[in-house]
Amino acid sequence: MISQGQLRIYVVKNSLTKHKPWFYHPENPERLMYALKGIREEGLEDYLEYISAEGKPSIHKYEELLLKVHCKNYLKYLEEMSKIAPVEIDPDTYIVNDTIELAVESYIYSYTIARTGYRYKAILLRPPGHHAGKCGKAMNTVTQGFCILNNAAAAANSLLDKGYNRIAVLDFDIHHGNGTQEIFYKTDKVLHMDIHRDPSNFYPFTGFPDQIGKGRGRGYSVNLVIGPHTGDDYYEELIDIVEKLLRMYKPQQVIVSMGFDGYMGDGLADTRLSMYMYNKLGLMLHQLSIPITSILEGGYSLGLQYGLPAYIKGLLGTDVEAGETKTPKQIVEEYRRINNKTILKIEEIWGGG
Ligand SMILES: [Zn+2]
Repeated sequence: MISQGQLRIYVVKNSLTKHKPWFYHPENPERLMYALKGIREEGLEDYLEYISAEGKPSIHKYEELLLKVHCKNYLKYLEEMSKIAPVEIDPDTYIVNDTIELAVESYIYSYTIARTGYRYKAILLRPPGHHAGKCGKAMNTVTQGFCILNNAAAAANSLLDKGYNRIAVLDFDIHHGNGTQEIFYKTDKVLHMDIHRDPSNFYPFTGFPDQIGKGRGRGYSVNLVIGPHTGDDYYEELIDIVEKLLRMYKPQQVIVSMGFDGYMGDGLADTRLSMYMYNKLGLMLHQLSIPITSILEGGYSLGLQYGLPAYIKGLLGTDVEAGETKTPKQIVEEYRRINNKTILKIEEIWGGG
């Protein structure tokens, strides 16, 4: 095990109480209880640090930093919505009276923590961010999928502001990070790699393999898709592909949109990933020997309790023992073909390798 000084699990404390739905909704403060329970059960509590901003974070106060990712009209819209809260801004996404201050707090912490000293940082925050595009809904999709401000994009921008020019964003939430893809679609300074459930029949219906970036960004958006009922056996192949691409791209830091909703029985997806796979993801990142900032996206129950601690252990270089879940054979063949095609294309753009 590496020394405690190399890892921190930050918890944005207000996420435990604020932005509470007034009706049943899977994105609620209880989520973090699952995560904290799992962290304690796995003996990782010494890595926890609770953080809380002074005063009330507002859009007005942090406008300059928010404008690095989002457009002015969207920020204005959020302020307006906040005034008439509680309100559902779309069929998935709610805003209550303290939502905006929590979203701003989580965004600002993502921006500042990405550039601090620890090698491995994980930030447990709410609301999630990867579906939030520059001006709200991303890539003409149906909703903002519980997201208000894009925290992973804030973290990547923090590093761009610092002069970095090779940042990778790895999004392993089961849903495509369409907000993040939209924000970095035209740059080669941020490689956005996203493993998600095939969008032809899954929310947010974006993130197809042929979306590979535009202009300078061509070849720097990589969408790896998995079919229904995918288990560990096939998912593992994609982790190997991601590792290969990361080693070729040589990022200065990886920002991870960590979502645990692909975990078997977590609630929102039909995939069958086990703690073993989340551990593998962590181990793969650990082996890159570069700074990793992981930001919470989805995960609604068991994925947070079991998948998240297994991932953190992986970051520390510790493996977990668990059985492997299987994928139906025809699904493996179909998706192997689709993803191999994507990778051939990316490698062709990058000049072979
Ligand atoms: Zn998700």
